[in-house]
Amino acid sequence: MKNESVKTLELRRAALLKELATIGPLVQASFCERTVRCGNPACRCAQGEPHRAYVLTRKVRGKTATTHVPRDLREEVRSWAEEYRRVKQLLRQISDLSDRIIRLHVRTSRAVARNRDRVRATRRSSTGECSDTTSQGS
Ligand SMILES: [Zn+2]
Repeated sequence: MKNESVKTLELRRAALLKELATIGPLVQASFCERTVRCGNPACRCAQGEPHRAYVLTRKVRGKTATTHVPRDLREEVRSWAEEYRRVKQLLRQISDLSDRIIRLHVRTSRAVARNRDRVRATRRSSTGECSDTTSQGS
């Protein structure tokens, strides 16, 4: 499993970012279909043929909040909820790739540092480049 380079990870992340740009309207909730009885004893729902209701549910401070979805909006709202799931998954994947890029970078620079140490083992750390050479200008 050593075929994973920063480059391939970055390419995959770029592809996911491109996909992220295609995200449309969304709503942070779950779309649910429910069967309900209206309470009218003469209604067909009392005969075991319940009505269908569409709701969005989400957690608000540990409690489930529900939003009724009008029938004529249900397909649209269903796609918003799906879009939210998609963006959440994309964010997780992008974040995961970023994390792996960082870890890989650390490992790579350690390997580079080890190599450098071998090559110039006798050299002390040079302080020439970053020292305060304030004699500049005019
Ligand atoms: Zn009914």
